[in-house]
Amino acid sequence: MSDAPSPARWTLVVHGGSGAFARGLLSEAEDAGARAGLSAALAAGAAILSAGGASLDAVEAAVRVLEDDPHFNAGRGAVFTYDGTNELDAAIMDGESRAAGAVTGVTRTRNPVSLARAVMERSDHVLLSGPGADAFSAAHGLEQADAGWFALPERRRQLDELKAAGDDAAFDHGMKYGTVGAVAADTHGHVAAATSTGGLTGKRWGRIGDTPLIGAGTFADDRACAVSATGSGEYFIRVGAGHEIAARVRIGGETIEAAADAVIEEVGEIGGVGGVIVVAPDGSGGWSFNTPGMYRGLATQDGDHDVAIYGDE
Ligand code: ASP
Repeated sequence: MSDAPSPARWTLVVHGGSGAFARGLLSEAEDAGARAGLSAALAAGAAILSAGGASLDAVEAAVRVLEDDPHFNAGRGAVFTYDGTNELDAAIMDGESRAAGAVTGVTRTRNPVSLARAVMERSDHVLLSGPGADAFSAAHGLEQADAGWFALPERRRQLDELKAAGDDAAFDHGMKYGTVGAVAADTHGHVAAATSTGGLTGKRWGRIGDTPLIGAGTFADDRACAVSATGSGEYFIRVGAGHEIAARVRIGGETIEAAADAVIEEVGEIGGVGGVIVVAPDGSGGWSFNTPGMYRGLATQDGDHDVAIYGDE
């Protein structure tokens, strides 16, 4: 018998946001469309991982599919700001090197996750914002899109509804359409995470959520796990959710399931709602959420390819 270590097993977990959606709230078309989108994202990432590709490539590919899919609040179909624009946030992190890149408030890049990757690989920085990030994108030849590509009538209607309700804080607590994200472990034993969002409907004053903040909404470390979050970002920032889960695993020796559950509980204790997807270098993976539902999917080397929306499935 050979004592060579067996190759690591690949696993991919994706999410399309968590929220207050209970059964019956989504139309049949919305439900089926979201499931098809999650499945397509799993297929895109699984194609890379099953061929021995890198987790970093897989999470980028999966998130790009979800950004282009209007069912989700990222890229095309992003929610509107209070001022009627779409301002996009994204991040990516490589667990092997702990290299990371992120952007916030970008308006012209078709796939913000790829812009985040360009920041990671082609700049000395981790986080670029607003017009500067848009300029970096154009200068580095990323595919540009008109405002009309991102802006869909249904999301405009949601902003109008929010404003009509007279909510001065203009904070969309329902979050029916969520952020997207992916975490993966590859056959080389490396993990990666990526997250992309339009943020919250009605966001204003340059509000930035947890998604592009490394250690909050996005984190990856081969010594522990990769994490992508969704939910009320302010609370995930305050808990340092992504890093906290990884720290519990790395320093505390907790399983990823226990660490994710404990941190989601902490988020809940201070008033936050949402969820995380997590994967470890050994290929174990899963999620934790305190909302009625979370769009999610899991694919593994063992042939799993499952998507789910509601908490009871
Ligand atoms: N976490 C995102 C944010 O706060 C929103 C979401 O996940 O739906 O910007």
